[in-house]
Amino acid sequence: MTPESARGLVLVVEDERAISDLLRLYISREGFGVHVAADGQSALAAARTMHPVAIILDVGLPIMDGTEVCRQLRAEGNWVPILFCTARDDEVDRVLGLELGADDYITKPFSPREVVARIKSVVRRASLIAPDEAPLELGAVTVDLVTRRVTADGDPVVLTATEFDLLAHLMRHPGRVYSREQLLSEVWGYAAMVGTRTVDVHVAQVRGKLGDLSPIRTVRGVGYSAEVPDSA
Ligand code: CA
Repeated sequence: MTPESARGLVLVVEDERAISDLLRLYISREGFGVHVAADGQSALAAARTMHPVAIILDVGLPIMDGTEVCRQLRAEGNWVPILFCTARDDEVDRVLGLELGADDYITKPFSPREVVARIKSVVRRASLIAPDEAPLELGAVTVDLVTRRVTADGDPVVLTATEFDLLAHLMRHPGRVYSREQLLSEVWGYAAMVGTRTVDVHVAQVRGKLGDLSPIRTVRGVGYSAEVPDSA
């Protein structure tokens, strides 16, 4: 039976019953339907046929591991938001090594509340994007909102989920200046209790990855904007 709900279906892929039961409870409380798959192959089948709004994907799974499930879905052009659950550092490396754009991940042991917050966040971000929305371009940097891939001078750049959202938010309205408080509420949303220093840290990370091509400009005493860099 497929649980239906107004907010759509979340596919939970997890082979540990205690964890999937807990996730089902917390996620369904938020008004999402939940379907649980306990191995990679049934996860793939469910992702193809049930049209979930998001997938919580354990990396260590029987039959086919989570990174392979993700790789196959992406190869088919399926860009459903995926929140990876990793148990070990080497699994984090494998997820980041997929270079599938800015998928989010969470490390076990996690709090179910944190997972729910992340799921709401990835669903919210995805819902803001039309399926055929054109990539954002500024100077040599291109941000594809659908595939969540970023390139600089044609080379792929791997950003975290938050770094991607921050960059995309600024690039949607080039030249518009955002205060740190605005960016916190508009990009972070659920995590508005974090300090404004967080914005500076993430801006520095994006700049570190994009180098001279970074379109993010500091507007002294105000905040940040996105513009074609002087060097471009
Ligand atoms: Ca597992």
